[in-house]
Amino acid sequence: MAKYRGPSCRICRREGTKLFLKGERCHLRGKCPVDKPVNPRNYPPGQHGLRRRFRVSDYGVRLREKQKLRKTYGILENQFRKYFRLAMRQKGVTGENLLRLLETRLDNVLYRLGFVTARGTARQLVRHGLFTVNGRRVNIPSYQVKAGDVISPAGKALQIDPVKYGLEYNSGKLLPEWLEFDPKRVEGRVVSLPTRDQIPVPVDEHLVVEFYSRV
Ligand code: SF4
Repeated sequence: MAKYRGPSCRICRREGTKLFLKGERCHLRGKCPVDKPVNPRNYPPGQHGLRRRFRVSDYGVRLREKQKLRKTYGILENQFRKYFRLAMRQKGVTGENLLRLLETRLDNVLYRLGFVTARGTARQLVRHGLFTVNGRRVNIPSYQVKAGDVISPAGKALQIDPVKYGLEYNSGKLLPEWLEFDPKRVEGRVVSLPTRDQIPVPVDEHLVVEFYSRV
């Protein structure tokens, strides 16, 4: 299973917006290159990042929106295309279906529940088999959770620093309405599948659909 291994901040600088790929570190004042005007590196990466930017074409606008969504969830192009095809085959609005498929990935659900502070960390912990869904270990980050699923830490998960820190950092955090977290049992539950307004991702999914409709 492939994943991007380059610098995270480069991705945000490319998209010109904060994607919160490094968890709590993204909130440290003065550390994030996209936080203008605090940091002078708020320009696209690469040798020509500082040069004057020409008007972005319609295609470019849609491409950037698609990239922003894909990189927010840390997915490579091939898998993202599979999600899009799946979203098209489902009933309902394709853009909303796509967002729901991404949002209900197990690694994202752990991030939303507050077990960790970044999706990348969640992905790694799932690969190590440190979480269960309905009592069964799942080590596939793209596993799709369903309404009623219960997600709990397994084995030594609660003794691992990123989980200990994540739970402490996120304690008292407001959860999206489609998720519940029981602090006593340290487990989360999927109440229902999310609707568009319950997915706090600042992306125009219509542009993503338009991007794939023309390629
Ligand atoms: Fe993105 Fe976080 Fe880096 Fe800021 S600190 S550029 S939000 S990964």
